[in-house]
Amino acid sequence: MRDYELIVIGGGPAGITLAKRLGSRFKMAVIRPEDYSMIYCAFPYVIEGILDIEKTFKSDEHITESGAKLIRAKVLKVNEENQSVELDNGEILKYNKLVIATGANPILPALKGVELKGILTFKQQDDLERILNYLKKGIKKAVVVGAGAIGIELAYALNAVNVETYLVDMEKNILPNLADPEMVEEPCKLLLSSGINLILGESVQSVKGTHVAETVMLTSGKKIELKNTSSKPEHLDAILVFAVGVRPELEFLKATDIKIENGGIVVDEFMNTSVENIYACGDVVQFKSAINGSVVGGKLATNAVPMARILAENLKGKRIAYQGFYNGAATKIGSYYIGGTGFTEKVAKNQGYDVITGYGTATTMFPIMPGAKKIRVKLIVNAENNTVIGGQAVSGDPVAPIIDLITLAIQNKMTVEALSFLSYSAQPYQSFFPAGNVIVMAAEDAMMSI
Ligand SMILES: Cc1cc2nc3c(=O)[nH]c(=O)nc-3n(C[C@H](O)[C@H](O)[C@H](O)COP(=O)(O)OP(=O)(O)OC[C@H]3O[C@@H](n4cnc5c(N)ncnc54)[C@H](O)[C@@H]3O)c2cc1C
Repeated sequence: MRDYELIVIGGGPAGITLAKRLGSRFKMAVIRPEDYSMIYCAFPYVIEGILDIEKTFKSDEHITESGAKLIRAKVLKVNEENQSVELDNGEILKYNKLVIATGANPILPALKGVELKGILTFKQQDDLERILNYLKKGIKKAVVVGAGAIGIELAYALNAVNVETYLVDMEKNILPNLADPEMVEEPCKLLLSSGINLILGESVQSVKGTHVAETVMLTSGKKIELKNTSSKPEHLDAILVFAVGVRPELEFLKATDIKIENGGIVVDEFMNTSVENIYACGDVVQFKSAINGSVVGGKLATNAVPMARILAENLKGKRIAYQGFYNGAATKIGSYYIGGTGFTEKVAKNQGYDVITGYGTATTMFPIMPGAKKIRVKLIVNAENNTVIGGQAVSGDPVAPIIDLITLAIQNKMTVEALSFLSYSAQPYQSFFPAGNVIVMAAEDAMMSI
């Protein structure tokens, strides 16, 4: 039996962040089963042929260079009584403090037929390698279920390598958790013109087939024929990929008293679980909105890493509270960059907010400059106190910096009036004319409704 001051279960962005910050401070181990920690965000670009798979492997040095030990194994059980974890290689390790950073796994909905061959999810190295393998063998068709960022990026990539691609979502617009419908009209048109068969407002009801998936049945009665003619999975002509969200796998904690709700570990603002000396961070925890404390989705590396940073500081002896999640996120569809933060208008209204919105449209450089692209911004404002509670941006250039600026406004509880006085910079190649700024335009537009 080996003893550690600190054991972290999980080698994703949360586990790596903890190792980097605490490895030199504690006798520490990070446990993860896979050969490599991977850059999941880049998987679609491997499928599109822009990156080799090796580029998505993170070096183990991220974990070990600070002195933390990397143990390749899976934790089967946590025993809180004697402060130990049991590994799948039979070993038992003792800890003083334990962090659970085991992430979340893609959901395979419990539908009739989902056990058939040719049905996949999209997160692990295995998933990526399987799809690459099918591509090499010449699959002709793919159905992707879920038009969130991951589903769209995957569908776009498959379509780009000449696979006849269907993208299905139960919502009536793409990116339903990221942006409101009117903000994604143009990217949606681009998806259609790129040749993707977009089916919105429809769910998959079941999958038919003998050994392999043959027909995807939709709730309206429509069918998508996969035309898998061979019963051998190695000879598939078509695949069905579910990208409908993720859920933590928490079976290994069942012998503990760790509180779990809505599919995630409940933590306080210091990342403590309900059991002493056990902490959790990353996708495995239940997320609470920083705006109003409601339980929200948003399993993102940009949420996992800040949580781990806060936990690292607290384990060093500080007492820093995590504010909660703003869910700033971005994606790319062909030539469009799309981002969102805070609540969409739809979510804000569902949460009972009286909402004001404002729009701004400008260009990413002086409009006279070659290469200037359109940018459109939407702000969502709580009409009760005029604070900004959400924002979205769509442009032909990256929007992450704009989204981060809106997040900063939300974080600091800025009113839309204060935001309309944002002091900004301007230069022909880098912004709209000094006469205007797209966030300020959106803020001024929202103020017309106050
Ligand atoms: C295709 C794709 C694209 C994405 N794009 C983006 C993006 O653009 N931006 C963004 O912010 N986020 C993106 N994400 C989400 C992001 O990858 C996750 O939010 C992030 O990886 C969560 O980090 P984590 O450390 O909490 O968990 P994970 O990265 O899931 O890591 C969990 C680790 O725990 C290990 N583990 C699990 N169970 C056990 C066990 N019992 N014993 C030992 N180890 C265990 C796992 O093997 C893994 O090493 C994307 C995800 C996918 C799949």
